[in-house]
Amino acid sequence: MDAVLIDSMGGDLTAVNAARVSFAKKKDVLDEKDERLIRYLANHGHVSPFFHIMLQFRITAPIFVARQWYRHAVGFARNEESRRYIRDEPSVFHPTHWRSKPEGSIKQGSGGVHWASDNWKGEYQVLVDFSTTMYNRMIEEGIAPEQARMVLPQGTETSWVETASLFAYARLCKERIQPDAQAEIRDLAEVINKACRKVAPVSWKYLVEGETK
Ligand SMILES: Cc1cc2nc3c(=O)[nH]c(=O)nc-3n(C[C@H](O)[C@H](O)[C@H](O)COP(=O)(O)OP(=O)(O)OC[C@H]3O[C@@H](n4cnc5c(N)ncnc54)[C@H](O)[C@@H]3O)c2cc1C
Repeated sequence: MDAVLIDSMGGDLTAVNAARVSFAKKKDVLDEKDERLIRYLANHGHVSPFFHIMLQFRITAPIFVARQWYRHAVGFARNEESRRYIRDEPSVFHPTHWRSKPEGSIKQGSGGVHWASDNWKGEYQVLVDFSTTMYNRMIEEGIAPEQARMVLPQGTETSWVETASLFAYARLCKERIQPDAQAEIRDLAEVINKACRKVAPVSWKYLVEGETK
């Protein structure tokens, strides 16, 4: 599971200059006044200047994470690999450990490391081996890849190219880096979080971390 930044357009100055176009102003160097402007824009819902900062990632994640990720739809462009056309053996995600069910609210998703985590790692490997062997046999015997993929587990990884604005990523990260989000999607959101912070550190601080002073 990973997200690699392919390309980006703009940074903090892009948002500042987009906001200042109404006064026909443009700056070349970001200063404290600009940081105050960014804070004001972020805190008062004037978010369109942040639409001009764009990022493109190549993301690889298991299908169950991709399903959650794709729920963030507004402002995202995505193109995904297709197992209708790809026939090579898929990679399957392996968790570092299996977690227990939560002790408190079910909304928490999961608790700590399950006491039989290592045993379930082994059982999972058996399932992965069984299903990928069956998949490969089906492909070899001429079954259509679009149907053969049915036997693959939800942990099978998929990969897509995704482009969105800094604001769209801020909205996604604010939801998916929270403790109530599933650990696996949190890991992915953290990679995006770091990349966005590098591209536009001031805007990111006010959009996501919500500092107001
Ligand atoms: C911890 C967690 C648990 C979740 N559990 C579930 C679950 O059990 N089941 C489930 O189905 N989903 C679940 N979700 C997904 C969640 O319901 C959202 O679909 C997801 O977080 C994407 O948010 P969004 O709709 O704001 O994103 P986007 O679709 O990108 O929308 C962005 C914003 O655009 C506006 N918008 C989008 N569509 C419309 C519309 N049709 N009309 C008007 N305005 C619109 C809204 O302001 C919205 O916030 C969960 C999310 C999280 C973070």
